[in-house]
Parts: sequence; structure tokens; C-alpha cells
Amino acid sequence: MGKVILVTGVSRGIGKAIVDILFSLDRETVVYGVARSEAPLKNLKEKYGDRFFYVVGDITDDSVLKQLVNSAVKGHGKIDSLVANAGVLEPVQNVNEIDVNAWRKLYDINFFSIVSLVSIALPELKKTNGNVVFVSSDACNMYFSSWGAYGSSKAALNHFAMTLANEEKQVKAIAVAPGIVDTDMQVNIRENVGPSSMSAEQLKMFRGLKENNQLLDSSVPATVYAKLALHGIPDGVNGQYLSYNDPALKDFMP
Ligand code: NAP
Repeated sequence: MGKVILVTGVSRGIGKAIVDILFSLDRETVVYGVARSEAPLKNLKEKYGDRFFYVVGDITDDSVLKQLVNSAVKGHGKIDSLVANAGVLEPVQNVNEIDVNAWRKLYDINFFSIVSLVSIALPELKKTNGNVVFVSSDACNMYFSSWGAYGSSKAALNHFAMTLANEEKQVKAIAVAPGIVDTDMQVNIRENVGPSSMSAEQLKMFRGLKENNQLLDSSVPATVYAKLALHGIPDGVNGQYLSYNDPALKDFMP
């Protein structure tokens, strides 16, 4: 039997690309995905049939996470890997205008839902010596204008990867930043949050990347995530935070 892999945020962007790449790399793989938008999940189901299963829901709701894990275990008897991809950028706001409830909401999506999903899936991941791949961001340790909530949530995620790898010897974990990728998140930066909340200089930088065709295609980092989930996280990078193009991950690149 092939690998059984859970992926969050599969309705578009990097998450959808991870699903496509997993199936292109290995015809035996089975994916259980989750997102809130039902139509794109139905499209994936139509395309991949009995290799793709989904739960429609918000990952901040523990019952949605339990449904995801339980349906994989009931349907295919195991979980080999988990890719925690779903994430949001907003609130994008300067520290002098912080809305702490908006920060809490972001943390619920970008951090606490992932802690919860790992804790729910951990007994199954231990049985398979499984892998947990966290989608981080360069913003975890670099300053981007008004991205305090987002960047700090990704830094917390990196630490969680390190903690998991050190405390649970039966599983491996890694946090990987995907680079700057041509998805809806970048559209939102260029057209909405950038003009309203970011510095003119940084907005210009993000717009310039698009204009000069320098954004990464989502298939590039998605290949790294898919291969880590499929082939397993090497001992040498277990618990680390790395960029998708770090030399230590060269075997996982397209
Ligand atoms: P995207 O196009 O906006 O896609 C985000 C995905 O997450 C969607 O499938 C969305 O599905 C899902 N999602 C968001 N909130 C959710 C929730 N509460 N419950 C369930 N699903 C939820 O973004 P992306 O660019 O592909 O980003 C994917 C990951 O890469 C994120 O963690 C992001 O922080 C990270 N990243 C992206 C970039 C970049 O340049 N694009 C750079 C660094 C890091 P629904 O809306 O259908 O629920």
C-alpha cells in the first residue's frame, strides 16, 4: 500500500500544488485534504477519484481536524505524513494599531490549529515513524512591514518543529519556507494589504517581483514539501528550519 498523507489548505496555491505533485510522483499515494472552500476540493476528488479524500471545514475547529485524522485511519488504516500548509497573512497592521483579537485569530489558524492537529495525529504518526512538514516563511526571521502577527506565528511554528523532533523520537519534523510564490496570498499583498498597510518601499518590491516574473511557481516549493512527505525527512535536517532551496534539501528539489 502507498503512503497516506494529510495536507491542509489544499483548495488553492501551494497546498493544491502539493496534492498534484504527490500524485505525479507516486500513483499509490493517498491524500486526505482539508480547506473551507468546497468547490476546489470537489474538483480534486473528480480528478483523482479514490486517491483523494477531503473534509470541508475550518482548521481552527478541532472537530474538523479529528474528522480529517479519523477518516484517514478508518479509510486507509494509517497516517504516514502530515503537511501543515494552510496559513493566512492578515492582520497586516503596524504595532501602533494592534488589534490583539485579530492577532489571536491569526495565531489560531497559523499556529494553534497545527499544534492541535499534530497532537490529534501523533499516536498514528508514531506507529508509522511518520513525518510532519510545516510550511513556514522567510518572514519568520526577517522584517516585513506590518507583518508582526504573521512573522511571529511562523517563528513559533519553527520552534514547534524543533520541539516535536526532539521530544518524539518516533516521528520527524521540519519547517520549510517556500520562497516568494505566485499564489493568491501574493495577489492580496500587491492589491489589498500592501497598498493599505505596508511601506511603499516593500509594496514596490513585491510588485516588482510580479512584474519581472520573479515569483516562484507553486510547483517548485510544492515538490520539496511533497518529496519530504513521501520519502521522509532525513536525520540531518530533523527539527530544523530551512528554506526550500537550502543545499541540505537539494535532493528534494524539482
Ligand atoms: P493561499 O493561496 O492563500 O492558500 C491558503 C490555503 O490555506 C487555502 O487552501 C485556504 O483554503 C487554506 N486556509 C486558510 N485558512 C484556513 C482555515 N482557517 N481553515 C482551513 N483552510 C484554510 O496561500 P499560499 O500562498 O498557497 O500559502 C500556503 C502556505 O504557504 C501558507 O502557510 C503561507 O503562510 C505560506 N507561505 C506562502 C508564501 C507565498 O509567497 N505565497 C510565502 C511564504 C509562506 P480556504 O480559503 O478554502 O479555506
